[in-house]
Formats: sequence, structure tokens, C-alpha cells
Amino acid sequence: MNKSRLALIVVIAALVVAFFAAGGHRYFTFESIKAQQAAIEAYYRGHPWQTVLAYFALYVAVAGSSLPGAIPMTLAGGAIFGLLWGTVIISFASTVGATLAFLASRFLLREWVQGRFGHTLRTINEGIEKEGAFYLFTLRLIVAVPFFVINLAMGLTPMRTWTFYWVSQTGMLAGTLVYVNAGTQLAAIDSPAGILSPALIGAFLLLGFFPLIAKRIVDAVKARRVYARWRRPAKFDRNVVVIGAGSAGLVSAYIAAAVKAKVTLIEKHRMGGDCLNTGCVPSKALIKSARVLSQIRRARDYGLKAASAEFDFADVMERVQRVIKTVEPHDSVERYTALGVECIQGEAKITSPWTVEVKTANGTRKLATRAIVIAAGARPFVPPIPGIEQAGYVTSDTVWNLRKLPRRLTVLGGGPIGCELTQCFARFGSQVTQVEMLPRILIREDPEISDRVMKQFQKEGINVLVDHKAKECRIENGEKVLVCEHKGCDVRIPFDQLLCAVGRVANTQGYGLEELGIPVTKTRTVETNEYLQTIYPNIYACGDVAGPFQFTHTASHQAWYAAVNALFGRFRKFRADYSVIPWATFTDPEVARVGLNETEAKEKNIPCEVTTYGIDDLDRAITDEEAHGVVKVLTVPGKDRILGVTIAGEHAGDLIVEYIAAMRHGIGLNKILGTIHIYPTLAEANKYAAGVWKKAHTPQELLRWIEKFHTWMRG
Ligand SMILES: Cc1cc2nc3c(=O)[nH]c(=O)nc-3n(C[C@H](O)[C@H](O)[C@H](O)COP(=O)(O)OP(=O)(O)OC[C@H]3O[C@@H](n4cnc5c(N)ncnc54)[C@H](O)[C@@H]3O)c2cc1C
Repeated sequence: MNKSRLALIVVIAALVVAFFAAGGHRYFTFESIKAQQAAIEAYYRGHPWQTVLAYFALYVAVAGSSLPGAIPMTLAGGAIFGLLWGTVIISFASTVGATLAFLASRFLLREWVQGRFGHTLRTINEGIEKEGAFYLFTLRLIVAVPFFVINLAMGLTPMRTWTFYWVSQTGMLAGTLVYVNAGTQLAAIDSPAGILSPALIGAFLLLGFFPLIAKRIVDAVKARRVYARWRRPAKFDRNVVVIGAGSAGLVSAYIAAAVKAKVTLIEKHRMGGDCLNTGCVPSKALIKSARVLSQIRRARDYGLKAASAEFDFADVMERVQRVIKTVEPHDSVERYTALGVECIQGEAKITSPWTVEVKTANGTRKLATRAIVIAAGARPFVPPIPGIEQAGYVTSDTVWNLRKLPRRLTVLGGGPIGCELTQCFARFGSQVTQVEMLPRILIREDPEISDRVMKQFQKEGINVLVDHKAKECRIENGEKVLVCEHKGCDVRIPFDQLLCAVGRVANTQGYGLEELGIPVTKTRTVETNEYLQTIYPNIYACGDVAGPFQFTHTASHQAWYAAVNALFGRFRKFRADYSVIPWATFTDPEVARVGLNETEAKEKNIPCEVTTYGIDDLDRAITDEEAHGVVKVLTVPGKDRILGVTIAGEHAGDLIVEYIAAMRHGIGLNKILGTIHIYPTLAEANKYAAGVWKKAHTPQELLRWIEKFHTWMRG
């Protein structure tokens, strides 16, 4: 917090203390106002405008400075001005005062509070942005919540000032009326407590919850409207139909079958989807072969005189297919049928909110279902670079068909998929040029982490070109050339094979979404709410098709919510929880992350402490000739609560699991430090990182005293 704000807080606090010390609060009590009623009324008769203005200004000052006295002043207002004018004057005065208090809290404290607790407050902030007006209205009617507390608390949220003003004015109207009316009979009232009967409080509460109830009704009406043009089948023969048997679809179907629902899973291509056939499984198999090769080349590092490997790239790619075949039974029709899932091989099309048509080899089938889960995945995005089609390219879908190692490979894209494949092909012996439009590869990670990966790539002979924008593909004298723009100049990159890995786009076309009018987001994923419902509350989407993440584990995570909400949403719906999302890029060094990194913390203005532990110092990493990498932990300043972790190094994706569990279950660095880690393992890096943090937080003063104690003990 800056000094001027701090000074202002001190001044305000001093004024409040002075107000109480001078006994100002005694003038704003019920008894005092009642005692002065006759005198005030007499003054009002003689000086009506002056009284109104003075009263208004005083009310605004009391409310704006969050001093106690609003209720007695409201009663006095009723007594002096009567029901109509009292209500009008107080309604505006209290709202203006409340808004001033709101703005003061925002100006003085919000930046500090959001900066310090913004990460924790994220859900509240999102809720306020979406439904803040409803919450505020409800709070205004719950008379037990003090007026000044609401003003100050709302100032700390992202609520717009105008929203605060009008909702406060309307929300407080009923309460103002009650108090002003009571004020008109001030002489007959013994205490403010007597004004509100339990029945009146109940009525207020009902009124308060009315907007929320109304919102639910509006949602139901909206849903009715989207359903209006469709005929609902009288009976459903399935509880849920799942479209797509990738990670998301398989898990959705599994959960539905596990809870004994009748579920049909439709896959038009290969069971297991992307992850099994063209994604995680083949890429990790290829990475392993490339890694073995790289380790053989490093034989001398392990004390071996020489070692060499002969290989045929086609055999490596056949091994990849063999690995897929080995994993295949996990995702097979046989396994899922045995689990109770009806599996249909065919192309699905949603024909109404409750019907799905499937084109199979034996004709078209029509299924009636209560709910639908869309899990149609994503496909590689191919940028519209002139000449790309003529030059030809492979993507993560088709690269697995290669059997001949390209001599010169150009990889477009510096994201995780591009990086993993770049290193693999380079290790097999391709001359690889990696082209990235942005200033660095792995842009989502901290610059020093990207740099570690880039340096390793360069060490392995990869030509990494950042800040290079692909402009055109040409064929010059029979040679394929990619032309890139770099700092205003053209750069020519001759290649034999182009691999396009510039991102993946959700599959949203051609299976009924357009006809049903299901919208897509700006990033072209299916638009869903926090329960993963589309605009049709019985149609859900999960996995790559819904975003915002594109990982197998997030697809399965969302699938749980989609399936459970689709089947049991009428009783209870669960909001998809994205609070702790981890991921890894399986390059060498491997990069794994959970939560915030330093770059994001700076961008979001979230204060944090950064603790790093260099893996080059770790015994096991040294024995394994893998003494490189870093564990970087972000914590709340002065506390051991973890905000995020990045690990770069051997088996980073496995090591980070300890931190994922810690973040998920609120375990801090002290507890990680207090946990026995097996010696010698790479996992000890986690404990040592916690140790670095602890050392930086040792109470030096206490240590000095302890030292004195030991000296004294020695006599
Ligand atoms: C090279 C590569 C490496 C990757 N590595 C990792 C990794 O290491 N870790 C990780 O977590 N993630 C990784 N991913 C991402 C991961 O593969 C995806 O996030 C995950 O597979 C998404 O699962 P999904 O079920 O949403 O979609 P998909 O797996 O794409 O499944 C969608 C399925 O729906 C089917 N379908 C579509 N439309 C219809 C229709 N109309 N009718 C019937 N069926 C239909 C498709 O045929 C497809 O099988 C990688 C991806 C790639 C490309």
C-alpha cells in the first residue's frame, strides 16, 4: 500500500477516534434524538430548507464515514419530515453516504486487499462480476448485516460504482420506509429494537431472496424458450448419450455406467480419441525412444567408453504403434461394454435437445436421451499460410504415419506439442528448425524456464527461431522453402518436411450444434456455464471441445462434472473446479507446473515470495548424471501457503504431484519439510525447496538468543 493511502487511513482513523473521544456518538443515539425531537421540529418549522440541507449533509457524512448513527438519524428524519419526504430525503442521503463509504474503501483498501488475497478471492470476484447486483440486493434486505459493513466490503470487490448505487437505493428502500414510518411515531417507540418484529424480518428475508429466486425462474424461462421449438419425446430410451470416445467421453460414459445409468457412447473414428491414437500415448512412446538414443550418445557421461545404436526410423514408428495397441484394450469397446456402456461405432449428429442420430455401417439409428454429453475433442489447427497446401505438411494427427525420417524438418510452433516433437526428431537425426512467432518457446512458462529448454535444444543442434512469423511456403527449383518474417526481413528456411503444431481447434461443426444454435466462445470452443451446460441445460460439453484446457487429465476431470450434472443435476449440480490445474511438457528438461508462475503473479499483481532450489545440487540427480533443473515455488508473503510451482528437470511431471496434492489440500511448505522423503530420490528436491524457504524465514533474533543460551550453558 502506498504511503499517501496509509496516511489517509491514519487521518480517518484519528477522526473517528476523536469523534468518539469527544462524545460525538452520544448525539446519535436513539435516546438523544428522542430528547431533542421537539427542538429539531421547532427549528424545521422556522428554517425548512436549511434543516433539509443540514440533515442531508449530516446523514451523508455519518454514513460516508461509516460512523454509527444511521438508524437514529433515520428515525429522526421520519419524525421531522414525515413519511413521504423523510423517505425521499433519507433514501438519497443514505445511498450517497453508502456510495462514499464504498468509494473510500475501494480507494484506500481494495488494491491492497485484492493484491494480497486476489488469488483466494478469485471465485468471489467472479461471482460479484456475474451476480453482484443480486447479492447486494439480498444483503441490503438482511437487516442483521450492518449497513456500513456492506458498504465497506463491497468497495473491496470489482462491483461497478453505478451498480452499487442503484442496487443500494432500491434495496434499502423497503427498510428505509419501515424506519421512517417508525420515526413518524417516534414518541410511541421505546427502542429501535422494537421496530422490527420477527414477521417483518422474515418478510425482508423473503424479499432479499426474491431476486435470486427470480433469477432461477428467469433461467428456467430462458431454458424453456430454447426448448420451445423442439418436440420432447414422451419417453427416453437412454439417460445419457456421449458423443466422442476420447478421454472426456470415456470417463463420462464410465461414470454414467458406474451409477447404473443407461449410457450410449458414440465414436466415429477410434476408441481412445486423440490421447491414445495421436496424442499423449504415441508422443510419449516416441519421446522414450529418442531419449534412449540420447542417453546412448551420452555413454561417456556414465563411464562407458563407447556405445552406439543402430536404428531404423520405421521400426521406431512401428514400436509407437505397438505401444498404442498395448494400451488400446483400456479404451476398447469390449472393456466399456463389459462395464455396462453401449458402444456404437458411427458418426453422431444431435438432431434435437433429446435426440441423436448415428450414421453406422448398417444404417442410421435414432436415439432418444434425457441428456447429451458432447466430448467431440479438437483437431490440429493449420494456419492459412499461402502455399502450405502445395508444399504439404504433417500435423500431430498424421506425423505418426511417417516411416522415413525427414532429413530437414521444420516445426511450426513453440508450444508443448511442437517442442516435444522437435526434440524427438532432432534426437533421431533430423536437422530440425523450430519456428515460433512469439519471443520465446513455451510462452506460458517463466522466461528462465523457456530459456532452459531453448538452451538444451540449441545444445542438441536444433535451430530455434523465435520472433519468426511464417509468411509463405514456396517450392523453388523443386526445393520446399518456408519464408518467415523476422524484424522486417525475410528469412528462408529450406525443408523436406513441415510439421504444423501451432495449436488445436475444437470440433464444433457438422454434428448439429449449428442447427441447435449452441454458441461457441471467442476461442471457438463450445460455450458452457460453470456446470458445463450449454444453452440447453440437458446438453453438456467437456474436454478439448469445451476448453479452456487441452489436457487429458482436465478432460477427465471435466467429464466427472458433465456426467454427474447430466444425471443428477436436478437434485444437485456441481461447479467444475479449476482451482488447481497442473500440466507438464515432456521435453528434456521436462517442465511441469501447477498454479501461478512468477510471470503471471506479476501480471496479476499478486504479491508472492519466490523460492528456488537448484536440482544441480541434488544427490540423486548427480548420481544419475541429470544434475540440472530447478524447483521454483511461489508462496504467500510471510506464509508457507503455496501459490504455484514450476519444476524443470528430470521427471518434473512426477515430482510436481507432491505440490499438486499440497495445493489441493491446503498443505504448506512447513508440512512438506516435515515429511520424510526417501534418500536418494529426485523427490527430495521438493523437500529441499521447502528447506530453502524455511531458511529464509528463520527468526534471526530468536537464533541470537538461542546462541546466547548455548554460550551460557557452556559456562
Ligand atoms: C501430440 C499430442 C500430445 C499430447 N500430449 C499430452 C500429454 O502428454 N498430456 C495431456 O494431458 N494431454 C496431451 N495431449 C492432449 C490430449 O490428447 C487431449 O487433451 C485429450 O485427448 C482430449 O480428450 P477429448 O476427449 O476432449 O478429445 P479427443 O481425444 O479428441 O476425443 C474426441 C473424440 O470424439 C470423436 N468425435 C468427434 N465428433 C464426433 C461425432 N460427431 N460422432 C462421433 N464421434 C465423434 C473423435 O473421433 C474423437 O475420437 C496431447 C495432444 C497431442 C496432439
